Amino acid sequence: MPRVLTTCIYCGCGCGLYLISDGKRLTGAYPSRNHPVSRGALCVKGWNSYEFSNDLNRLTAPLIKKDGKFIPASWDETLGLVVEKFKHYKNTFGPDSLAFLSSAKTTNEENFLMMKLARAVFKTNNIDHCARLCHASTVVGLSLAFGGGAMTNSINEFKDAEVILVTGSDTTAQHPLIGSRIINTVKDKGAKLIVIDPREIQLAKYATIYAQPKCGTDVAWINGLIYVIIAEDLHDKKFIEERTEGFLELKRTVRDYTPELVEEITTIPKEKIIEIARLYAKARKSMIVYSMGITQHTTGVDNVLSLANLAMVTGHIGFASTGVNPLRGQNNVQGSCDVGALPDVYSGYQSLVDGDIRKKFEQGWRVEGLPPKAGLTVTEIISAAGEGRIKGLYIMGENPIISDPDSNHVRKCLSEVEFLVVQDIFLSDTAEYADVVLPSASFAEKDGTFTNTERRVERIRKVIDPPGQAKADWQILSEVARRMGYKGMDYKHPSEIMDEIASLTPIYGGITYDRLGPYGLQWPCPTKDHPGTSVLHKEKFTKGKGTFMPRPYIPPAESTDEEYNFVLTTGRVYWHWHTRTMTNRTSTLEREAPEPYVEINCEDAEDLQIRDDQLIKVSSRRGAITLKVRVGHKVAKGTLFIPFHYREAAANILTILAVDPIAKIPEYKVCAVKVEKI
Ligand code: SF4
Repeated sequence: MPRVLTTCIYCGCGCGLYLISDGKRLTGAYPSRNHPVSRGALCVKGWNSYEFSNDLNRLTAPLIKKDGKFIPASWDETLGLVVEKFKHYKNTFGPDSLAFLSSAKTTNEENFLMMKLARAVFKTNNIDHCARLCHASTVVGLSLAFGGGAMTNSINEFKDAEVILVTGSDTTAQHPLIGSRIINTVKDKGAKLIVIDPREIQLAKYATIYAQPKCGTDVAWINGLIYVIIAEDLHDKKFIEERTEGFLELKRTVRDYTPELVEEITTIPKEKIIEIARLYAKARKSMIVYSMGITQHTTGVDNVLSLANLAMVTGHIGFASTGVNPLRGQNNVQGSCDVGALPDVYSGYQSLVDGDIRKKFEQGWRVEGLPPKAGLTVTEIISAAGEGRIKGLYIMGENPIISDPDSNHVRKCLSEVEFLVVQDIFLSDTAEYADVVLPSASFAEKDGTFTNTERRVERIRKVIDPPGQAKADWQILSEVARRMGYKGMDYKHPSEIMDEIASLTPIYGGITYDRLGPYGLQWPCPTKDHPGTSVLHKEKFTKGKGTFMPRPYIPPAESTDEEYNFVLTTGRVYWHWHTRTMTNRTSTLEREAPEPYVEINCEDAEDLQIRDDQLIKVSSRRGAITLKVRVGHKVAKGTLFIPFHYREAAANILTILAVDPIAKIPEYKVCAVKVEKI
């Protein structure tokens, strides 16, 4: 049977896999032996990544809502309606009455086109995507500290690390192939693992030290580590002197964070703080790994900046097997940011405030008057839609009803927006609110590239045709632009879009489809003869000197009280992906994890007289859900954990719409809830 090498659709590991087909349907998947990430292995999602594309509920024709019901229509009629409405809003209320949500599930080329459509054709910067909800704090924080918001090192370097500090990442569930690399390094090479997480995750079993801080206290324990490192003279004075700025300010800020105070704030015993600081600082090669447990807070940027401070103060950055390594969640969330599906930058994080850069894009796109003011973020777009400021909203491949905080608020806003376009492969919860639904192709039905968490730009390849009249997202976006009278988006193949990205984006400057080969290239790759970059900030930081930006500890936006006396934190499970639009159509995955649950500590369960599998009601100030209980020791007393995948008991009905003031990322990881027996 024909087999085609492509890239997994699920997480940011970006494993290489072969898809097998009978020419019409996908029939299987298996790993690439020589791929630098998968190396002959896949997690259960990768092995089963072929199944959802064959699902009979795929969207196969454009739909227009008439009298509350979706009616199949031709592409001509449907796109005609989209263009008519969007043109009308733009001409009547101005370009900023429109907004576009792009997608980290789609390719780099498609994200680039979505931002080109928004900016060059409709003249608005109201474009954003789900990176806002997961790693916006990383993009902002690491850019401020180092000059670049991406993983500083590479997956292959875990094997040579002496110490790996994992925080806010349930790595074996969310990035299983990276999780197994970490476990192998500990078991085979004797590396020391430090796990700091409010939930006793699977990696904690392999840890030399496991610490369980209170949710939302990360700045305090990181400052505490730096306090010990400076007090015990373990900081790297040469590195600080030669490569950084702002050390005195850091010293001044952390001097209050004694191990005693940190214990009081975080509940991590002071002895552990000292032990962790010594272990991390004394090793020659220490890597920091983090994910959404660090970023999804109202202090998300502060948390990221603090980790950057920790790496710089010890000189654990700029070398192999060191660095600050954010694990990006979605398969292409790194790439969607890289190619500019963000409200304040063009591709390659080039500022739209800079007149010369705007001019470069105006010339490249053959347009005039690109807007200079930053647009709205995801959560701002949704709220503006509810308030009538956004009239036309175009959502490609995202499902904000389940993925955004405070779901009831999102439902209300989307039901009130004047004209909603949803482009997707299934009729998602969000698509049900649409006026027009556009059927798109899955990852197996088109060509393109994804960029994984280690900045590796990799090919995806077409294996079969899309079902019915469905089309690749890049083809639909190009057609919308053509119907708007714009002539600069006629492409025959996504490789031409990548050539355009390379011509306008220095970090992708040397990337072409011919050069990507089977295993891709890591950016920065500025020229056609550049081999790609595995370690960032080697001789100097991208911004010159690394900047210490110390931050004081600030508590989460919502604290517990007498009524709402539990802290809720949310996350993922190994078997599912995000809002389950694909994994709930995959029999093995659904069989293993078919229903939502809430984890509660044994002592709390005993106090409340709750037993395993009992149904309980969990409520916050925003809503309530009912789901089964799992009693155990994973979460501390007073804390609950709910996986956010399930529409049947959507955790985001409970979460709070409080955001980081700079990155605007919502605080998914902490809110106050109460528990009632049913
Ligand atoms: Fe796919 Fe991630 Fe699993 Fe690799 S680890 S197979 S990329 S879901």
